[in-house]
Order: sequence, then C-alpha cells, then structure tokens
Amino acid sequence: MTGPDLTPDLAALLPDEHRRLLVGGRWRDAEDGATFTVHDPADGSVLTRVADASVGDAVEALDAAVAAQPAWAATPPRERGEILRRAFEMIADRADDLAMLMSLEMGKTVKEAKGEVGYGNEFFRWYSEEAVRIHGRWMQAPAGGSRLLTIKKPVGPCFFVTPWNFPLAMGTRKIGPAVAAGCTMVVKPAAQTPLTMLALAAILGEAGLPDGVLNVLPSTHAKEMSQALQGDDRLRKVSFTGSTGVGRTLVRQSADQLQRVSMELGGNAPFLVFADADLDAAVDGAMVAKMRNMGEACTAANRFLVHQDVAAEFAEKLAARMGALSLGRGQDEGVDVGPLIDEDAVDSVARLVTDAVHDGARVVTGGGRPDGAGWFYQPTVLLDVPAESAINTEEIFGPVAPITTFTTEDEAVAAANATEYGLASYVYTRDLSRTIRMAEALDFGMVGVNTGLISNPAAPFGGVKASGFGREGGFEGIEEYLETTYVALPVT
Ligand code: NAD
Repeated sequence: MTGPDLTPDLAALLPDEHRRLLVGGRWRDAEDGATFTVHDPADGSVLTRVADASVGDAVEALDAAVAAQPAWAATPPRERGEILRRAFEMIADRADDLAMLMSLEMGKTVKEAKGEVGYGNEFFRWYSEEAVRIHGRWMQAPAGGSRLLTIKKPVGPCFFVTPWNFPLAMGTRKIGPAVAAGCTMVVKPAAQTPLTMLALAAILGEAGLPDGVLNVLPSTHAKEMSQALQGDDRLRKVSFTGSTGVGRTLVRQSADQLQRVSMELGGNAPFLVFADADLDAAVDGAMVAKMRNMGEACTAANRFLVHQDVAAEFAEKLAARMGALSLGRGQDEGVDVGPLIDEDAVDSVARLVTDAVHDGARVVTGGGRPDGAGWFYQPTVLLDVPAESAINTEEIFGPVAPITTFTTEDEAVAAANATEYGLASYVYTRDLSRTIRMAEALDFGMVGVNTGLISNPAAPFGGVKASGFGREGGFEGIEEYLETTYVALPVT
C-alpha cells in the first residue's frame, strides 16, 4: 500500500457552515448542539464533526417541507426543470471537488467517485427534461356520454433515507424526480457519509431551489427519526435505499399513515457464464460487476455461476486480474481499490470467506486482510464454493468472487433464482435465443446481457422479492412521486 500523496483541504470542499443541518433554507446546528464524527475509512481517523439532528429537528424539517409544498407544487414545471438543469451544470463544473469529498468520507478511489458524480448527476439532467412531460389523459367513456380526465399531482412531502455506498447517486435518484414532480422533502443521509449530501444540498440552493423544498438532516438517530416522521400524517411518501431489514421496518411503519413507499434494498446478483460466452469479455464484465465500489454495491455480482467446462479458465483469468489490483487510500495515484467502509464490513467479509473455506472452497487469490492500518480486504477469488455456503446466500458487500459450477441451463437458472433477493443479474452468452430465455426466466428486476454495468439513469432501476419495489430512473422513476386524480366530466 502507498502513503498519502496529497492532503485535501476539507474546508475548501465543504465549509464549516455546511457541516450542519439544512432546515427551511437555513443552515443551523442541531437544537441540542449535538454533533457526531465522520471517519476516513483509509486509516480510521476523524475527518470532521457534523451536526447531529434530533427528532425535534426532524419535525421542524417536516414543518418546513409541509409549508413549502403548496407553492412548490404550483411552480411551473419548466422552472422546476431549470433548477435541476442549473444544478446539473454546477455539479459537472465541480465534479473534481465532489469526487474528492466523497472519496475522503467513503473511501472509494477519486476516479470511481468521479464516475459516481457523473452517473448521479445524470439523474438531474434526465429529470430536468422529464419535469415538463408530466401529463394526464383525456378519453371518452366506453359507453359514451362522459369524458374521463386524469391529472397528475405531486404526492406531497417525502422522507428519503440513503445509504453510505453511493453518497451522491442514491440522493440524486430520489431528489431529481421529486423536484421534477413538485414534491418537497426531508433527506437523511447515512451517518458514515453525510458530507457529499450536504455539498449537494448547497449546490441545489445556489441553483435556485426555494427554501424548504429540500431539508437535510445528518443524524445518528435514524430509528427515532423515521418513527416520528412516519407517524405524522403530513408525510406522504418514503423512499429508502439500504438493507432489507431496515426496509421491512420502514414498510411496517408506513402502515399507520398509509404512506406511499419505494424500497431499493439488498441484492444477491448471480453472474452466469455459459460455455459459449466470450470468456475474456466475461472476465472484463466480472471485474466491473464485482469490483465497482470495492464490491460494496447492491448490484455487485455476488455469486459467479460458471459452466463447468470453462470454470477453471474463467477463475484463473479473473484471479490474475483481481490479484493485480493495488489497494490503498482512495486519494492516492495508482490505487485501484480503496478500503471498505468500516471495521464491521471487513469482519463480515472475512467471516464469509473463512466459512466458505471451511465448507470446502479453494482460495485462488487473496483471502485475507493486508497488513497495515485501515479497513481493507484483499480482492479474492474462491473456487468450488458449495451453493449452500453463506457466501452464496448472503450479500457479501466486499471484493470477493465465489465461483460455483453448473452443467445445464436449467440448473443455472434454478441456482440463479435460489435467493430471496431479486435485484440485478448478469448473463454471458453468445446465443441470442438463450439471451431471451434468460431475460424471461431470471427472477430479477434487472438483467445485464454481456455487460457488467447495468445502472443507467434513463432505465428503471429496482428489484423484486426481498430487493424491494418501486423504480428509480427512466420514465418510471417520476411516477413514484405523482398521484393520479380522475375527473368525471359528463357531457349532456
Ligand atoms: P442500512 O439499511 O444499514 O442503512 C441505510 C440507511 O438507513 C442509513 O442512512 C441508515 O442510517 C438508515 N437507517 C438505519 N436504520 C433505520 C431506521 N430504523 N429508520 C430509518 N433509517 C434507518 O444499509 P447500509 O449498510 O447503509 O447500506 C447497505 C445496504 O444498502 C445493502 O444491503 C445494499 O444492498 C443496499 N443498497 C441498495 C441499493 C438499491 O438500489 N437497491 C443501492 C445501494 C445500497
């Protein structure tokens, strides 16, 4: 591992003023003055302290969102779209600074962080264009006589909870369509990575977003906050990205006030490689699907299901590529892989690997923690992993590729679908008919065919089964923030 070769000036990336709560357009401390620490995952040191919103602060933020809702809903769509468009331009101009800030708090390399800024920002561009295309329907009733008009209205004040793994993109996927639809919102970023969201909020303010439309609450009181806000009948929508366990809690909490909910939860993506696949392309795709974000992605390839005739060659080629990656601080030149988010994450990955080896898996490369400080784990390839080993049934969220073999297509599909999750899946084959059969047979919200990268702001991202419901991105994404009113118009 290499040492730091630059010391970014945090104050230049996010001024002290903005390491606080944003409520009703005002940056302020928590009501009780509390703060919490944000760490650098490369060495565990404290990066900074941030205001820690209480439940009282959350209620004030909802008050602000509720107060801002009527005027925001009445703002012309073009104006809402242009605010997003201005924010898009500003984010593009400041991509380097945002990427550095994200890398510092989350650990990913600056290059990857820049990729996320570009990807996440596209949601603002897409929804700046969608704001003006919200439309209803006009039709004649089947029996004649009346006319049926449907109109679309914003759902109302929303509560967004985002995870630490994509601190910017998981925010823009919700904020973009909500702003376009005319909703106001309270956002709680993950406590590990609040800084990027605060920088994003400052940009939206500069872009002209009216006070109270977006309120941001870094907090360590997520549970109490969600209980209070979801217990309030003024809140109309919850959108959550995170673990399936927390998602279930939020769905339960939505029952009393019957809030609308979107849930982007965990995944356990299969990566199928058939014997007719272009093996080098499959290895390229595997590197992206596995190593993007150090494997800390809900779309990360979790289980490699490889035809037995090509498994040894695939494992060898993948291990050569994984083993050549250099680990280090995300801000350093030449580093391919940053640290995991915290010590618990490293412990969890290490446990899964140890258990897999105990179950009979063979380590082809990696398999341990490197020496030195920081929350790192070696890129690892495991072969002969039994299907029932925990590494195949749980979300790994780290740089480990377990390989299991299959012989028939039916066997491959059955193995791929043998999970409670249903988010992303990947297939490598050169057979067009097989491609179609796979797209129809795989029980997942998304299927990547001969690609390891499926996320696209113009496409509906989301899952089925324990991966949740609702879609982010594409034409579908804005529907999550719109209600339909039907108007009966009799004609005499
Ligand atoms: P997490 O569920 O622990 O935390 C996510 C967020 O929920 C954080 O902001 C956290 O503070 C908050 N939270 C925790 N308990 C809460 C409660 N009771 N009420 C309200 N908020 C609460 O998940 P994580 O470890 O931060 O993120 C990793 C998980 O997110 C993985 O399972 C991953 O697959 C999933 N994820 C899914 C998607 C997707 O689009 N499907 C994208 C990224 C990550």
